Amino acid sequence: MKVRTLILGAGAAGLMCAAHAGPDTLVVDHARAPGEKIRISGGGRCNFTNLYTEPDRFLGENPHFHKSALARYTQWDFIDLVDRHSIAWHEKTLGQLFCDGKATQIVAMLLAEAEKAGARLWLGAEIGAVGHADGRFTCRITREGKPVDVVADNLVLATGGKSIPKMGASGLAYDLARQFGLSLTQTRPALVPFTFDAGRFAELSGTAVQARVGNDRHSFDEAMLFTHRGLSGPAVLQISSYWREGEDVVVDLLPGADAAQDLRAARQKVGRRAVTTALAQHLPARLVSHIAGQIDLTGNLADLSDARIDTIAESLHRWHLRPTGTEGYRTAEVTLGGIDTNGLDSRTMMAHHLRGLYAIGEAVDVTGWLGGYNFQWAWSSGVAAGRAIAGA
Ligand SMILES: Cc1cc2nc3c(=O)[nH]c(=O)nc-3n(C[C@H](O)[C@H](O)[C@H](O)COP(=O)(O)OP(=O)(O)OC[C@H]3O[C@@H](n4cnc5c(N)ncnc54)[C@H](O)[C@@H]3O)c2cc1C
Repeated sequence: MKVRTLILGAGAAGLMCAAHAGPDTLVVDHARAPGEKIRISGGGRCNFTNLYTEPDRFLGENPHFHKSALARYTQWDFIDLVDRHSIAWHEKTLGQLFCDGKATQIVAMLLAEAEKAGARLWLGAEIGAVGHADGRFTCRITREGKPVDVVADNLVLATGGKSIPKMGASGLAYDLARQFGLSLTQTRPALVPFTFDAGRFAELSGTAVQARVGNDRHSFDEAMLFTHRGLSGPAVLQISSYWREGEDVVVDLLPGADAAQDLRAARQKVGRRAVTTALAQHLPARLVSHIAGQIDLTGNLADLSDARIDTIAESLHRWHLRPTGTEGYRTAEVTLGGIDTNGLDSRTMMAHHLRGLYAIGEAVDVTGWLGGYNFQWAWSSGVAAGRAIAGA
């Protein structure tokens, strides 16, 4: 069977590419339903883009690579598409846009767009050997138990990253990229909770605080959640992309405040108040008890010397924590790293050295912050490849 374009992966990027790649496109996926990560994303409401999408909110070895695609298909273009499909949405926080209804509306929209473009979709299909000969790609696909050899002018790698293997994530895009001579950068789980020694935060499990979590590279002011296994919540997921094993993260439990100054003022005004009571006005009581296990919070405010106030303030503003690791690909929202962008054209996503080979979406070494940025990369890179194929 001969097609013009074969897209491997019917996820966010693959479907978006299919909607733009022109006629005679076949999209193949081993899952029984397309866009499964879209369906479960954003708690079932899909955080489909971010109003503040800017290149500096993406990580990758080449910090410039993603600029072109993001500029040529922006968050406003995607919002326009969503509006044209009459999908109601709202901004939740920090520019994050979610469906008012269900994430499946976004999947349905992408399927409608791909169908309008004439693309065919094979689900539950196993991708076997892939090759390249005489300027064409060949792919053995097993569909409904029967092998089909597909020959294509263009091959798009859109099978995503390694996060959540239970949902069908595989390393296929990386294996094929390597097979066709593209390099890979190191991959690791990102946007992922931190783990700590057993029971480290067990007594705090379920407690959330607004915190600034950071290191020398970045810091994020968002919610932080204590869990049975460690730390989670948006601020922690964000910094996980900038963290490496063996490093500390520094937590500011009172971002924007000056704890030393505030404690001195309180000592003056309400000196007979217990230190723990004073702190519990700004932090959850359970957290104050936990901190009291690490530093001396006994006595009243009036008992505090300036030096003790400085020690307490330092502990609240610069709480050094060293995770033992992360929850890994089991729960990571994305994979950091991937197909080395040095081998790809930033305007078209096509491999420099092999005409007709494209890589898009999470498989590529471009990773966004939490908050709709990763879908925007899937849309932008999918459109870049699709338009290039359609115009080629
Ligand atoms: C729980 C969760 C919530 C998320 N929420 C958000 C959010 O709200 N906003 C946001 O911006 N990002 C979110 N993300 C990240 C986002 O889902 C991904 O960045 C995005 O889906 C990547 O798109 P993609 O098309 O590259 O890969 P995917 O969407 O993962 O699509 C890849 C497709 O390839 C198929 N495939 C994989 N291996 C094979 C194989 N061997 N053979 C055949 N088919 C294969 C898969 O079945 C899948 O359909 C979330 C991720 C997770 C895990």
